[in-house]
Amino acid sequence: MFMHNKRLMYTVRVSEPDPMLASLFLEQFGGPDGELAAATRYFTQALAEDDAGRKDMLLDIATEELSHLEVIGSLIVMLGKGVKGKLAEGLGEGELLAEMTKGGESHTLSLLYGGGAALTNSAGVPWTAAYVDTRGEPTCDLRSNIAAESRAKIIYERLINVTRDPSIKDALGFLMTREIAHQKSFEKALYAIEPNFPPGKLPGQPEFVNTYFNMSQGDGDMEGSWNTGPLWEKVDDREQQAAVDGGDGLATVTVSHTEKATLDRAALRTASRTDIDPPTGAELGAGPGSGIKGA
Ligand code: MN
Ligand code: MN
Repeated sequence: MFMHNKRLMYTVRVSEPDPMLASLFLEQFGGPDGELAAATRYFTQALAEDDAGRKDMLLDIATEELSHLEVIGSLIVMLGKGVKGKLAEGLGEGELLAEMTKGGESHTLSLLYGGGAALTNSAGVPWTAAYVDTRGEPTCDLRSNIAAESRAKIIYERLINVTRDPSIKDALGFLMTREIAHQKSFEKALYAIEPNFPPGKLPGQPEFVNTYFNMSQGDGDMEGSWNTGPLWEKVDDREQQAAVDGGDGLATVTVSHTEKATLDRAALRTASRTDIDPPTGAELGAGPGSGIKGA
């Protein structure tokens, strides 16, 4: 069960309303790397988790993310307060219009959502469960969670960089810091599974698992620990990059006689003739600039 506590996880002090900043902050309310995406990601993973340690951690972090959602949502609402009152009471048209259309999607936030925190990203795109990429395999999901926390950290960092108000910076700094802490927990939980690589159960094919195919060749080819050294067998030879299984590199399928007859008929009907050069509409209507002789 959930219990709600009326004290926020972090105090929200906003020195003055700023609808543009509010619309930017929506990125962390209803955006792909935002708090709702984080909370639902970890909550759904927790529900399905059978390991007691991971289940406990995922429930703790999911609940904390909901508390972050409340903090960022409160920041958005405080930043939108000025417009909200004037819009509701229909006061000061000119000034109100200027304030609403200050930038970002602040007019959408004001007009459509009345200054409330909307479950959209900062461009007004509605939140979607597609932001949650859980696959139900901890060695896979924990890696995705680590990546999600690192993205959330960066978005907070960028929001801090566009914020002047020191007390808002402070609250954003807390939210950003917690994403660092979560990343550490997920890293530890991943390495508490031994072995954890490769994800899942099936091993990779030994003849390809240490191969690095140098597929893009030319100026700018580089070597580093990611493609050379004891872990790697680097393949530069173009001939050795194709049909690496030793087969003919062609795609085939066995079909029934009836299927073959149908396919042959279709192929015959749509076969390209190389013995004709029929005039086309492009030539019939050709004018200067068409590149067609005599036009
Ligand atoms: Mn968070
Ligand atoms: Mn987090």
